[in-house]
Amino acid sequence: VSEKNDAGGSRILVFVRLRPMAKKEREAGSRCCVRIVNRRDVYLTEFANENDYLRLKRLRGRHFTFDAAFPDSASQKEVYSTTTADLVEQVLQGRNGSVFCYGATGAGKTYTMLGTVENPGVMVLAIKDLFTKIRQRSCDGNHVVHLSYLEVYNETVRDLLSPGRPLVLREDKQGIVAAGLTQYRAYSTDEVMALLQHGNQNRTTEPTRANETSSRSHAILQVVVEYRVRDNSMNVVQRVGKLSLIDLAGSERALATDQRTLRSLEGGACNTAMIANISPSNLSFGETQNTLHWADRAKEI
Ligand code: ADP
Ligand code: MG
Repeated sequence: VSEKNDAGGSRILVFVRLRPMAKKEREAGSRCCVRIVNRRDVYLTEFANENDYLRLKRLRGRHFTFDAAFPDSASQKEVYSTTTADLVEQVLQGRNGSVFCYGATGAGKTYTMLGTVENPGVMVLAIKDLFTKIRQRSCDGNHVVHLSYLEVYNETVRDLLSPGRPLVLREDKQGIVAAGLTQYRAYSTDEVMALLQHGNQNRTTEPTRANETSSRSHAILQVVVEYRVRDNSMNVVQRVGKLSLIDLAGSERALATDQRTLRSLEGGACNTAMIANISPSNLSFGETQNTLHWADRAKEI
């Protein structure tokens, strides 16, 4: 099976999502420095310092274009269907796919990936969609869905579905695997939502702020779909597709080590979507500029 997409390439799809201005940012006198036009163009504006003689002039404006860019009004469903729905379909065809969120702490990565009970994010909507599709085609095979949810923190891997001591990584035919990682057999969306919310609470928190997930914590949900069908000669063939949904650590942290850890966990070729999360506030201008810069570079991968 070819991993190539219709265009013949296997490049990563790059998306940007702008979150709404937070109350705190507004109270701090923030101005919005990001504008999204036509669901794909992003304009970043650096405002001159108020006391600057150039105060009326906008400085260093920049324009970027992505596969899609979501304004702060975009719904979780819209983000899911544009970025991930195709990959879910591919996983059902026995291929691999991955989606990851990238951006500074507070930019909206966990909201996009996990979301809230009222507004579930990509992880939950992907599983919901997967079960819907499986129900629709249950006559042509028997699908089994397994989930694992793990955290990579300071090069240590922990099982978010069964917290305890760190997992040991070892190498096998498929690449690097975490020995003893829970493979949870899932039957419905509702149980998965609760499972993921609970798993998220098992993420490592900042020692100084007990309820705040550490900005160095990566969370990786892997959804493995096994599917048995009989071919024309009545032989049983098994297909396996794997979807990886990744809530990366804050991009303001050391990236070099972290990316190496994740890349090796990822293994082989796959179809990948990146969602770069950004804040609208001019107080986060530097971080937003960095994120857009890396997202722009990722288009060339
Ligand atoms: P990160 O995981 O990148 O550190 P979070 O996802 O925790 O950031 O988002 C920071 C805050 O902003 C949270 O309170 C979250 O609920 C809120 N938020 C993020 N994105 C959105 C959005 N698109 N709509 C509404 N609230 C959002
Ligand atoms: Mg987060």
